[in-house]
Amino acid sequence: MQTAALAELGLAGQWTYEAIEVAPEDFGELVRSLPGDGFAGVNVTVPHKLAALELADSASEAARGIGAANTLSFAGSQIRAENTDGIGLLEALPQSPSGCRALVLGAGGAGRACAWALKGAGAQVSIWNRGAERAAAVAAELGVGAIERVETAEFELLVNCTTVGLEQANRAEPSDPALKGLPLDADSISDRQIVVDLVYGPRPTPLVALAGDKGASVVDGLEILVHQGAASLRIWTGREPSIETMRNAAREQRHR
Ligand code: NAP
Repeated sequence: MQTAALAELGLAGQWTYEAIEVAPEDFGELVRSLPGDGFAGVNVTVPHKLAALELADSASEAARGIGAANTLSFAGSQIRAENTDGIGLLEALPQSPSGCRALVLGAGGAGRACAWALKGAGAQVSIWNRGAERAAAVAAELGVGAIERVETAEFELLVNCTTVGLEQANRAEPSDPALKGLPLDADSISDRQIVVDLVYGPRPTPLVALAGDKGASVVDGLEILVHQGAASLRIWTGREPSIETMRNAAREQRHR
Protein backbone atom coordinates (compact mmCIF):
# COMPACT_ATOMS: atom_id res chain seq x y z
CA MET A 1 0.00 0.00 0.00
CA GLN A 2 2.93 2.36 0.69
CA THR A 3 4.44 1.59 -2.71
CA ALA A 4 1.09 2.25 -4.44
CA ALA A 5 0.70 5.56 -2.58
CA LEU A 6 4.23 6.68 -3.45
CA ALA A 7 3.62 5.87 -7.12
CA GLU A 8 0.40 7.88 -7.15
CA LEU A 9 2.16 10.84 -5.55
CA GLY A 10 4.74 10.73 -8.36
CA LEU A 11 7.46 9.75 -5.86
CA ALA A 12 8.15 6.22 -7.13
CA GLY A 13 11.49 7.26 -8.63
CA GLN A 14 12.84 8.85 -5.45
CA TRP A 15 11.21 6.80 -2.66
CA THR A 16 10.92 3.08 -1.95
CA TYR A 17 9.35 1.19 0.96
CA GLU A 18 10.88 -2.13 1.91
CA ALA A 19 10.75 -4.69 4.71
CA ILE A 20 13.75 -5.17 6.98
CA GLU A 21 13.75 -7.98 9.50
CA VAL A 22 15.93 -7.50 12.55
CA ALA A 23 16.54 -9.32 15.83
CA PRO A 24 15.90 -7.30 19.03
CA GLU A 25 19.62 -7.32 19.94
CA ASP A 26 20.52 -5.73 16.59
CA PHE A 27 17.65 -3.21 16.48
CA GLY A 28 19.43 -0.13 17.86
CA GLU A 29 22.52 -0.50 15.72
CA LEU A 30 20.48 -1.11 12.58
CA VAL A 31 18.21 1.90 13.12
CA ARG A 32 21.14 4.25 13.80
CA SER A 33 22.74 3.15 10.51
CA LEU A 34 19.64 3.86 8.42
CA PRO A 35 19.86 7.68 8.09
CA GLY A 36 23.36 7.30 6.65
CA ASP A 37 22.01 4.74 4.18
CA GLY A 38 19.51 7.27 2.81
CA PHE A 39 16.40 6.22 4.73
CA ALA A 40 13.90 8.98 5.68
CA GLY A 41 12.25 6.81 8.32
CA VAL A 42 10.79 3.44 9.23
CA ASN A 43 7.65 1.80 10.47
CA VAL A 44 8.37 -0.36 13.47
CA THR A 45 6.32 -3.34 14.52
CA VAL A 46 6.24 -6.00 17.23
CA PRO A 47 8.54 -6.62 19.11
CA HIS A 48 10.46 -3.38 18.54
CA LYS A 49 7.92 -0.65 19.40
CA LEU A 50 9.22 0.04 22.93
CA ALA A 51 12.86 -0.03 21.86
CA ALA A 52 12.03 2.40 19.05
CA LEU A 53 10.70 4.96 21.53
CA GLU A 54 13.65 4.47 23.86
CA LEU A 55 16.33 5.06 21.26
CA ALA A 56 14.71 8.17 19.74
CA ASP A 57 16.13 11.64 20.43
CA SER A 58 12.63 13.16 20.56
CA ALA A 59 9.08 11.85 20.59
CA SER A 60 5.61 13.07 19.71
CA GLU A 61 2.93 13.47 22.38
CA ALA A 62 1.22 10.32 21.02
CA ALA A 63 4.37 8.17 21.21
CA ARG A 64 5.09 9.39 24.75
CA GLY A 65 1.48 9.00 25.87
CA ILE A 66 1.11 5.51 24.38
CA GLY A 67 4.58 4.50 25.54
CA ALA A 68 5.64 3.01 22.21
CA ALA A 69 6.54 4.08 18.68
CA ASN A 70 5.46 2.57 15.37
CA THR A 71 7.06 5.26 13.20
CA LEU A 72 10.54 6.78 13.26
CA SER A 73 11.65 9.69 11.09
CA PHE A 74 15.22 10.83 10.53
CA ALA A 75 16.58 14.37 10.24
CA GLY A 76 20.35 14.18 9.90
CA SER A 77 21.37 11.86 12.73
CA GLN A 78 18.35 12.87 14.86
CA ILE A 79 15.66 10.23 15.32
CA ARG A 80 12.08 11.23 16.11
CA ALA A 81 9.51 8.76 17.42
CA GLU A 82 5.83 8.90 16.50
CA ASN A 83 2.87 6.59 16.99
CA THR A 84 0.23 6.56 14.25
CA ASP A 85 -1.80 3.58 15.54
CA GLY A 86 -4.13 5.83 17.55
CA ILE A 87 -4.63 8.39 14.79
CA GLY A 88 -5.20 5.45 12.41
CA LEU A 89 -8.13 4.37 14.58
CA LEU A 90 -9.61 7.86 14.88
CA GLU A 91 -9.36 8.52 11.15
CA ALA A 92 -10.96 5.16 10.31
CA LEU A 93 -14.02 5.76 12.53
CA PRO A 94 -17.21 6.82 10.72
CA GLN A 95 -17.74 9.65 13.25
CA SER A 96 -16.00 11.39 16.12
CA PRO A 97 -15.97 9.29 19.31
CA SER A 98 -16.29 12.44 21.43
CA GLY A 99 -18.71 11.87 24.29
CA CYS A 100 -19.31 8.20 23.51
CA ARG A 101 -18.77 5.26 25.85
CA ALA A 102 -15.96 3.19 24.34
CA LEU A 103 -14.81 -0.27 25.34
CA VAL A 104 -11.25 -1.27 24.45
CA LEU A 105 -10.70 -5.03 24.57
CA GLY A 106 -7.02 -5.78 25.19
CA ALA A 107 -4.29 -4.01 27.11
CA GLY A 108 -1.30 -4.83 24.87
CA GLY A 109 0.35 -2.36 22.51
CA ALA A 110 -2.70 -1.83 20.29
CA GLY A 111 -5.01 -1.52 23.30
CA ARG A 112 -2.82 1.17 24.82
CA ALA A 113 -2.71 3.12 21.54
CA CYS A 114 -6.48 2.94 21.01
CA ALA A 115 -7.36 3.81 24.61
CA TRP A 116 -4.98 6.79 24.58
CA ALA A 117 -6.35 8.10 21.27
CA LEU A 118 -10.01 7.63 22.21
CA LYS A 119 -9.50 9.39 25.52
CA GLY A 120 -7.77 12.27 23.75
CA ALA A 121 -10.70 12.49 21.33
CA GLY A 122 -13.15 12.90 24.21
CA ALA A 123 -14.53 9.36 24.60
CA GLN A 124 -15.29 7.81 27.97
CA VAL A 125 -12.95 4.82 27.80
CA SER A 126 -13.00 1.49 29.64
CA ILE A 127 -10.40 -1.24 29.15
CA TRP A 128 -11.06 -4.95 29.55
CA ASN A 129 -8.25 -7.48 29.33
CA ARG A 130 -8.07 -11.26 29.71
CA GLY A 131 -5.58 -10.67 32.49
CA ALA A 132 -7.42 -8.14 34.70
CA GLU A 133 -4.28 -6.90 36.46
CA ARG A 134 -2.82 -5.71 33.18
CA ALA A 135 -6.05 -3.87 32.33
CA ALA A 136 -5.98 -2.13 35.72
CA ALA A 137 -2.31 -1.13 35.36
CA VAL A 138 -2.68 0.23 31.82
CA ALA A 139 -5.93 2.02 32.67
CA ALA A 140 -4.31 3.70 35.68
CA GLU A 141 -1.36 4.80 33.56
CA LEU A 142 -3.57 6.23 30.81
CA GLY A 143 -6.20 7.72 33.13
CA VAL A 144 -9.12 5.64 31.82
CA GLY A 145 -11.39 3.03 33.44
CA ALA A 146 -10.79 -0.71 33.78
CA ILE A 147 -13.60 -3.26 33.92
CA GLU A 148 -13.78 -6.98 34.56
CA ARG A 149 -17.47 -7.58 33.77
CA VAL A 150 -18.67 -6.25 30.42
CA GLU A 151 -22.24 -5.15 29.67
CA THR A 152 -22.01 -5.09 25.86
CA ALA A 153 -25.07 -2.89 25.29
CA GLU A 154 -23.66 -0.09 27.50
CA PHE A 155 -21.07 0.89 24.90
CA GLU A 156 -21.55 2.84 21.69
CA LEU A 157 -18.07 1.88 20.48
CA LEU A 158 -16.43 -1.55 20.83
CA VAL A 159 -12.77 -1.92 19.79
CA ASN A 160 -11.09 -5.32 19.72
CA CYS A 161 -7.35 -4.91 20.35
CA THR A 162 -6.73 -8.52 21.41
CA THR A 163 -5.39 -11.17 19.06
CA VAL A 164 -8.72 -13.04 19.27
CA GLY A 165 -9.96 -13.76 15.73
CA LEU A 166 -6.51 -13.76 14.13
CA GLU A 167 -6.45 -17.50 13.64
CA GLN A 168 -9.96 -17.61 12.14
CA ALA A 169 -9.20 -14.67 9.82
CA ASN A 170 -6.23 -16.56 8.42
CA ARG A 171 -7.82 -20.00 8.06
CA ALA A 172 -8.35 -21.43 4.58
CA GLU A 173 -11.90 -22.53 5.43
CA PRO A 174 -14.66 -20.54 7.18
CA SER A 175 -14.67 -21.43 10.86
CA ASP A 176 -16.86 -21.34 13.94
CA PRO A 177 -18.27 -17.79 14.10
CA ALA A 178 -18.60 -17.81 17.92
CA LEU A 179 -16.92 -14.96 19.79
CA LYS A 180 -14.62 -17.17 21.84
CA GLY A 181 -12.20 -15.33 24.10
CA LEU A 182 -14.03 -11.98 24.09
CA PRO A 183 -16.39 -10.97 26.92
CA LEU A 184 -19.07 -9.72 24.50
CA ASP A 185 -22.69 -10.85 24.43
CA ALA A 186 -23.46 -11.45 20.76
CA ASP A 187 -27.19 -10.76 21.25
CA SER A 188 -26.44 -7.30 22.66
CA ILE A 189 -24.55 -6.10 19.58
CA SER A 190 -26.86 -3.85 17.58
CA ASP A 191 -27.16 -1.22 14.88
CA ARG A 192 -26.64 1.49 17.53
CA GLN A 193 -22.99 0.52 17.89
CA ILE A 194 -19.74 0.98 16.05
CA VAL A 195 -17.61 -2.17 16.17
CA VAL A 196 -13.91 -2.03 15.34
CA ASP A 197 -11.63 -5.05 15.04
CA LEU A 198 -7.92 -4.33 14.71
CA VAL A 199 -7.34 -7.93 13.70
CA TYR A 200 -7.41 -8.64 9.98
CA GLY A 201 -6.70 -11.44 7.55
CA PRO A 202 -8.02 -12.86 4.26
CA ARG A 203 -11.34 -13.72 5.95
CA PRO A 204 -13.49 -11.48 8.15
CA THR A 205 -12.92 -12.14 11.85
CA PRO A 206 -15.86 -13.68 13.77
CA LEU A 207 -16.44 -10.27 15.43
CA VAL A 208 -16.55 -8.40 12.12
CA ALA A 209 -18.90 -11.01 10.63
CA LEU A 210 -21.23 -10.99 13.64
CA ALA A 211 -21.29 -7.20 14.02
CA GLY A 212 -22.10 -6.86 10.31
CA ASP A 213 -24.99 -9.34 10.67
CA LYS A 214 -26.34 -7.35 13.62
CA GLY A 215 -26.35 -4.13 11.61
CA ALA A 216 -23.54 -2.44 13.56
CA SER A 217 -21.29 0.00 11.78
CA VAL A 218 -18.12 -2.06 11.25
CA VAL A 219 -14.50 -0.96 10.82
CA ASP A 220 -12.08 -3.81 10.09
CA GLY A 221 -8.38 -4.07 10.86
CA LEU A 222 -7.34 -3.43 7.28
CA GLU A 223 -8.98 -0.01 7.42
CA ILE A 224 -6.98 0.85 10.56
CA LEU A 225 -3.82 -0.43 8.91
CA VAL A 226 -4.43 1.80 5.89
CA HIS A 227 -5.02 4.92 7.99
CA GLN A 228 -2.01 4.41 10.29
CA GLY A 229 0.11 3.75 7.20
CA ALA A 230 -1.15 6.93 5.54
CA ALA A 231 -0.30 8.92 8.68
CA SER A 232 3.26 7.52 8.61
CA LEU A 233 3.66 8.41 4.93
CA ARG A 234 2.53 11.97 5.68
CA ILE A 235 5.21 12.26 8.37
CA TRP A 236 8.03 11.12 6.05
CA THR A 237 7.04 12.82 2.80
CA GLY A 238 4.95 15.79 3.95
CA ARG A 239 2.44 14.77 1.26
CA GLU A 240 -1.18 13.59 1.53
CA PRO A 241 -1.49 10.02 0.19
CA SER A 242 -4.70 8.68 -1.36
CA ILE A 243 -6.55 6.52 1.17
CA GLU A 244 -8.42 4.83 -1.65
CA THR A 245 -5.21 3.86 -3.45
CA MET A 246 -3.74 2.47 -0.22
CA ARG A 247 -6.97 0.62 0.65
CA ASN A 248 -7.17 -0.99 -2.80
CA ALA A 249 -3.52 -2.06 -2.67
CA ALA A 250 -3.92 -3.47 0.86
CA ARG A 251 -7.07 -5.39 -0.14
CA GLU A 252 -5.33 -6.84 -3.18
CA GLN A 253 -2.40 -7.96 -1.03
CA ARG A 254 -4.74 -9.48 1.56
CA HIS A 255 -6.18 -11.89 -1.00
CA ARG A 256 -2.81 -13.01 -2.41
P1 NAP B 1 0.06 -7.61 22.17
O1 NAP B 1 0.74 -6.40 22.71
O2 NAP B 1 0.79 -8.91 22.14
O3 NAP B 1 -1.31 -7.80 23.03
C1 NAP B 1 -2.12 -8.94 22.81
C2 NAP B 1 -3.44 -8.76 23.52
O4 NAP B 1 -4.30 -9.86 23.17
C3 NAP B 1 -3.35 -8.75 25.05
O5 NAP B 1 -4.33 -7.87 25.56
C4 NAP B 1 -3.68 -10.20 25.40
O6 NAP B 1 -4.21 -10.37 26.70
C5 NAP B 1 -4.76 -10.47 24.38
N1 NAP B 1 -4.99 -11.90 24.12
C6 NAP B 1 -4.13 -12.78 23.55
N2 NAP B 1 -4.70 -13.99 23.45
C7 NAP B 1 -5.96 -13.87 23.97
C8 NAP B 1 -7.03 -14.77 24.16
N3 NAP B 1 -6.96 -16.06 23.79
N4 NAP B 1 -8.19 -14.30 24.71
C9 NAP B 1 -8.29 -13.01 25.10
N5 NAP B 1 -7.29 -12.11 24.95
C10 NAP B 1 -6.14 -12.53 24.39
O7 NAP B 1 -0.44 -7.36 20.68
P2 NAP B 1 -0.85 -5.94 20.00
O8 NAP B 1 0.34 -5.35 19.36
O9 NAP B 1 -1.61 -5.16 21.00
O10 NAP B 1 -1.81 -6.44 18.83
C11 NAP B 1 -3.09 -6.99 19.10
C12 NAP B 1 -3.76 -7.33 17.77
O11 NAP B 1 -4.01 -6.11 17.05
C13 NAP B 1 -2.90 -8.20 16.85
O12 NAP B 1 -3.73 -9.14 16.20
C14 NAP B 1 -2.33 -7.21 15.84
O13 NAP B 1 -2.07 -7.80 14.58
C15 NAP B 1 -3.48 -6.20 15.74
N6 NAP B 1 -3.03 -4.87 15.33
C16 NAP B 1 -3.56 -4.36 14.18
C17 NAP B 1 -3.20 -3.09 13.76
C18 NAP B 1 -3.81 -2.55 12.51
O14 NAP B 1 -3.28 -1.58 11.97
N7 NAP B 1 -4.90 -3.11 12.05
C19 NAP B 1 -2.29 -2.32 14.51
C20 NAP B 1 -1.76 -2.89 15.69
C21 NAP B 1 -2.13 -4.17 16.08
P3 NAP B 1 -3.25 -10.77 27.95
O15 NAP B 1 -2.64 -9.49 28.43
O16 NAP B 1 -4.20 -11.35 28.94
O17 NAP B 1 -2.23 -11.74 27.43
